[in-house]
Amino acid sequence: MSGGTTGRILIIGSGFGGLGLAIRLRRAGIESFTILERAETLGGTWRDNTYPGAACDVPSMLYCLSSAPKTDWTRKWSGQAEIRTYIEEVARSHDLLRHIRFGVEVAGARWDEDAGTWTVRTTSGEEIVAEILVSAVGQLHRPSIPKIPGLETFRGPSFHSARWNHEVDLTGKRVAVIGNAASAIQFIPEIAEAPTGWSRAATGRSSRGRRGCSRACRCSRSCTAPSSGRAPSCCSIR
Ligand SMILES: Cc1cc2nc3c(=O)[nH]c(=O)nc-3n(C[C@H](O)[C@H](O)[C@H](O)COP(=O)(O)OP(=O)(O)OC[C@H]3O[C@@H](n4cnc5c(N)ncnc54)[C@H](O)[C@@H]3O)c2cc1C
Repeated sequence: MSGGTTGRILIIGSGFGGLGLAIRLRRAGIESFTILERAETLGGTWRDNTYPGAACDVPSMLYCLSSAPKTDWTRKWSGQAEIRTYIEEVARSHDLLRHIRFGVEVAGARWDEDAGTWTVRTTSGEEIVAEILVSAVGQLHRPSIPKIPGLETFRGPSFHSARWNHEVDLTGKRVAVIGNAASAIQFIPEIAEAPTGWSRAATGRSSRGRRGCSRACRCSRSCTAPSSGRAPSCCSIR
């Protein structure tokens, strides 16, 4: 145990949630915070999900922090790489990197009623004391692998879309996809011409193609374009 205090605030996770809070703290003049990130790099879910076709589901204009708006997305639904780059730029431009400790995974936390402090324990055994603890660990950082009978004896390669195995060449292969929600909808068209997918329930679908973001569409978040036929569609979504 190396021990020590972090200042007042400890944030777990450096994804959108952690960084968004950090920006607000700095704007409020608060510098006494530390972000603990178990991975060695930024990006959160956008670091972990690298499957073919990974992109946001809502238009990019709406998928950025209000405290760090981006108006020059290259696509209406930007891909994983561009979003990850955006996250890295946000951290750099808001001078957040010095607040982040990479490679530190939180294993547990204990509240001390008398002292009014949290003692956070990391997987390496370090204990860190903070007055305020904020969890920003996200909900998708641990892939859910279903207990499918026979999975352990399946002889072909198998992996979760959130940990895509880019070493596996799928060309000419018969690929079974379990699930057909947000991720599957994005990568199935990328890997197959005539796919067959298995799912428990149907999911909603709509075509979004590979549309770029038009000049008119690159308006600011405060855009009040009329919702007439002339307004770019991403602007009419509020
Ligand atoms: C392909 C894809 C498309 C998506 N599209 C959209 C969309 O269009 N709109 C939308 O609103 N959402 C979308 N999402 C959901 C997306 O996860 C969230 O929008 C957002 O990125 C979550 O940010 P977060 O900071 O809450 O969590 P995360 O990005 O998961 O960040 C959590 C961080 O906490 C770290 N962490 C976890 N546990 C620990 C621990 N014990 N100790 C230390 N660090 C820890 C993780 O390593 C990670 O870096 C999409 C997700 C995916 C995968």
